[in-house]
Amino acid sequence: MKTTKRRSGAIRVRLKTERTRADSGDFSKVAESLAEIGRGFYARGWVLGTSGNFSSVVSREPLRLAITSTGLDKGNLTPSQFLEIDEAANVMRGDGRPSAEALLHLTIVRSVGAGAVLHTHSVWGTVLSGTHARHGGLALQGFEMLKGLAGVQTHKHREWLPILENSQDMVELADRVSRTLEQAPGIHGFLLQEHGLYTWGESLAEAKRHVEILEFLMEVLVRSGAAQNA
Ligand SMILES: [Zn+2]
Repeated sequence: MKTTKRRSGAIRVRLKTERTRADSGDFSKVAESLAEIGRGFYARGWVLGTSGNFSSVVSREPLRLAITSTGLDKGNLTPSQFLEIDEAANVMRGDGRPSAEALLHLTIVRSVGAGAVLHTHSVWGTVLSGTHARHGGLALQGFEMLKGLAGVQTHKHREWLPILENSQDMVELADRVSRTLEQAPGIHGFLLQEHGLYTWGESLAEAKRHVEILEFLMEVLVRSGAAQNA
């Protein structure tokens, strides 16, 4: 009887250890991918001067995100600079402090069920989010590259990128983000005025593709304006 008890105890311990190891492996893999994507975005000039932040869901139940800690040079991003946070942005793993914008990442993950959220501060997004703020958003239509957005089949698709007024009050801003996502459920991203782009995807690969597509299209709009004035 005693032996059986000891055995089942040993089995329980081993299962628990294996599960912990698997979680730790998931986090490391995700952090490695995020770091690589971040260095790539820095090289493109989309996250200069410690701007931008990146996150990916590590587990849904309970909710855990791998996310950049605040104030990092994205050109030298390493997996060890990522934190694991819970649904209230408490740090569960890693050293450092999450960006105040972690609340926006959590809001997007919860609102649209995103698997990853990427945030950039490009010149193009900064320019357009200022010039189009009075329209409440920016329409992208007629471009072949739109087909890179999940579910979009034709260049005739009209993608609406809402522009939200910037704020340093993240609780208030997260609330506005949540309402925007509720009112426009099909969107793939939004801009914060004179700040930057937020986009997301079911997977990290999809979110990265959305950054590339939206940054490409915003650059085209700004440059074609310059071409018209030539
Ligand atoms: Zn930002």
